[in-house]
Amino acid sequence: MSIEVRNITKKYGDFHALDDVSVSLPTGQLTALLGPSGGGKSTLLRIIAGLDTADSGTVVIEGVDATRLPPQQRNVGFVFQHYAVFKHMTVAKNVAFGMEIRKRPRAEVRRRVEELLELVHLAPFAHRMPSQLSGGQRQRMALARALAVEPSVLLLDEPFGALDAKVRKELRDWLRRLHDEVHVTTVFVTHDQEEAMEVADEIVVVNGGRIEQVGSPDQLYDEPANDFVMGFLGDVTVLGALRLRPHDIDVAVQPGQAGALPGRVVRMLRVGFEMRLTVELDDSVAAHHRGGPVSVVLTRSHAHALDLELGSRVWLTPAVGATTVPAMVAV
Ligand code: ADP
Ligand code: MG
Repeated sequence: MSIEVRNITKKYGDFHALDDVSVSLPTGQLTALLGPSGGGKSTLLRIIAGLDTADSGTVVIEGVDATRLPPQQRNVGFVFQHYAVFKHMTVAKNVAFGMEIRKRPRAEVRRRVEELLELVHLAPFAHRMPSQLSGGQRQRMALARALAVEPSVLLLDEPFGALDAKVRKELRDWLRRLHDEVHVTTVFVTHDQEEAMEVADEIVVVNGGRIEQVGSPDQLYDEPANDFVMGFLGDVTVLGALRLRPHDIDVAVQPGQAGALPGRVVRMLRVGFEMRLTVELDDSVAAHHRGGPVSVVLTRSHAHALDLELGSRVWLTPAVGATTVPAMVAV
């Protein structure tokens, strides 16, 4: 185990930012800390980095009790959303900085900078100033700079948070490929479930200063431990007495399926290859249904094959193998 967080508690006044949090992050893995804003993700990352101290609990990094070590003795690299670059230094100088203050031999620094700029696809930009880079390129430079001193742990706090959606998506693919090449133990904070699902080997869901669940993206999506995780990792709707995902509902245009709930399509929205339906169930089944209108997602071609249009009569059933949790209260 590369990072062992044990019974960490952190209070600000009476407020528990972290409440007895324990988690193990294996060596070489890319782990996402995922959760809503204010949940405690950054606090946990800062405590792992040594930028903040816990009220109680321990942090062990690569077998060494780091709880009381200053950040510079923990051998961690960080990248934050707004990275402080040295504006007056070239890209190559920025990347070299950490090695130069450690007085590494000049030839080694030059070789390593070349290697890293190659790795982050910035080799042609070595002699530019940071102001001449795009936001995405600057964050790649920040990553090269963090990796330059060969940290045993890389900590990234919403590193792509300030970038637009398309660049974010490119960078997350790129981060995944980078990690597959260098395998440095990485902890990645994000509030974006899609980003976490695409990038991480394992996701730690942090909410209200506690850990809700730890698991692979598939485990969290298919076997959420509770309502919160199910709702945070994807869309949820209510059908009858169940909460389930809108794409886990079978739509028929005739009755027949036992237990199918009848209704009418009151809204259709096309988004890319998806068709999103809103279905109002018949009054006759209200007694069996604990939600409001039901959201259903189909592929566009499936909706077309069923000849669905506004006002169509439909019968809804949970799909075979659907992830469900009981719906306790009307929503
Ligand atoms: P996240 O990164 O998940 O959005 P944070 O770890 O930044 O959450 O914050 C967790 C909670 O702790 C928030 O409610 C935040 O307001 C509070 N908090 C964080 N830092 C401080 C601080 N220095 N003083 C007071 N409250 C803080
Ligand atoms: Mg944060």
